[in-house]
Amino acid sequence: MEMKMDIGMVGLAVMGRSLALNMADNGFQVGAYNRSSAVTEQVMRDHPHENLHPYYSLIDLVSALKRPRRVMLMIQAGKAVDTVIEQLIPLLDDGDMILDGGNSFFEDTRRRADYLAQRGIHYLGVGISGGEEGARRGPSIMPGGNPAAYEAVRPILEAISAKAEGQPCCAYIGPEGAGHYVKMVHNGIEYADMQLIAESYLLLKYVGGLTNAELAEVYAAWDTGELRSYLIGITARIFREHDDLTAGELVDHILDSASQKGTGRWASIEALKQGVDISMITTAANARVMSNDLARREQAYRLIERPTGKNPLERTALIETVRQALYTGKIIAYAQGFALLRDASECYGWNLHFGEIASIFRAGCIIQAAFLNDITDAFCKQPALSSLLFDEFFLSRVNKYQNSLRAAATLGISAGLALPATLAAVSYLDSFRARAAGANLIQAQRDFFGAHTYQRIDREGIYHHEWSEKA
Ligand code: NAP
Repeated sequence: MEMKMDIGMVGLAVMGRSLALNMADNGFQVGAYNRSSAVTEQVMRDHPHENLHPYYSLIDLVSALKRPRRVMLMIQAGKAVDTVIEQLIPLLDDGDMILDGGNSFFEDTRRRADYLAQRGIHYLGVGISGGEEGARRGPSIMPGGNPAAYEAVRPILEAISAKAEGQPCCAYIGPEGAGHYVKMVHNGIEYADMQLIAESYLLLKYVGGLTNAELAEVYAAWDTGELRSYLIGITARIFREHDDLTAGELVDHILDSASQKGTGRWASIEALKQGVDISMITTAANARVMSNDLARREQAYRLIERPTGKNPLERTALIETVRQALYTGKIIAYAQGFALLRDASECYGWNLHFGEIASIFRAGCIIQAAFLNDITDAFCKQPALSSLLFDEFFLSRVNKYQNSLRAAATLGISAGLALPATLAAVSYLDSFRARAAGANLIQAQRDFFGAHTYQRIDREGIYHHEWSEKA
């Protein structure tokens, strides 16, 4: 009898191919399909595997699947997903499942889930993080959708996920859209984290004068302490990497202009809509935008005078100040990301479990870091924690290190270095703890020019004042 496939993978570019092989390694029979057949052939030539079976049409793929059928899409996010869904609908039956493992916008996932539910097909929006290596060896997986449908794919997703302390980095996130929303915020935090690391590099290089070899040593040392994380680890390795085309290290030959695929921008737009301050994530997305403006940056460099501030710190003190600033900035970035998740959970009725979300970020994904154990602990101790900054552990760290964050920001300002995320971290901290935010004056101005009313500190009610001096 012909062997039936446990799952069908549609899309065999870097992510789909790696996930399919990961599933095959875990003993699942995987049907592999790609729109361009040449890609399928290439994958089968490069990665022959007894559990990986090529199909050259969607109808052949779907016919080969066990029921209820499980089809995973790992294709370009956006229109392509709608196109393939339309192609699959006539081939699928009641109770079959489509999983979208790409970086789809969560509102698209909600729309597609509603649309497919009317046709009896379950749709799961599955956030996946870890890049190619994660997908191949074990990513962090954030599935959202119908809980019963999730149960039917859970054995596969848990098996292929990364493991942290033996636990799978895969957990049911919530209803349709919730998985992709959490992935979007994960990526937003990743933007802020990467920007903070880039700013620590600028300080160490341009204020401290560290060479690439010294930078590699510093980040490698940081990777053994409280900053231990995937991103710090690869940063240390990057500074050691020799250029393959010329002399010196590769990092110095890479154009100073960072790309993005849009998830940081989506997170920022959602935060603005929801009314949640994720300034560090927005700042990090803006920093990439500014980095792209190379010609104007060069012009401005020549025209706008630079400050000539001096660094008062000796090397060891500077390195420790930058380390503490980076760690504090990271705490604030995560606090912002989780604040956005908390608001979304209430806004969409998702009942998100923040401790569990932090726990699946502990391995497999790009933001995996030692301190995700502390975030997991914080939310497990107090599931209703309104801000990470109120957790005893993080509060003690912020109080201990915040002077270093301020010192790093000051060093950057006086040297004329671009440290937008570090500055945003300081601003957030001071806005968050502000008794005086200046909003009383803003309300007075609004009432003055627009009769927008205000509340008083000494009595209940809404007031409008007849201002004596109209402009
Ligand atoms: P990708 O470059 O985003 O997409 C290429 C794949 O999409 C190819 O298999 C391509 O088929 C297929 N495709 C495009 N338009 C199609 C259409 N109209 N119909 C059918 N197939 C179509 O691939 P990727 O980098 O592997 O990423 C896949 C998804 O995972 C994306 O949503 C991405 O954002 C997300 N993701 C990527 C990473 C990463 O590190 N790369 C990490 C996490 C998540 P053809 O070969 O026929 O063109």
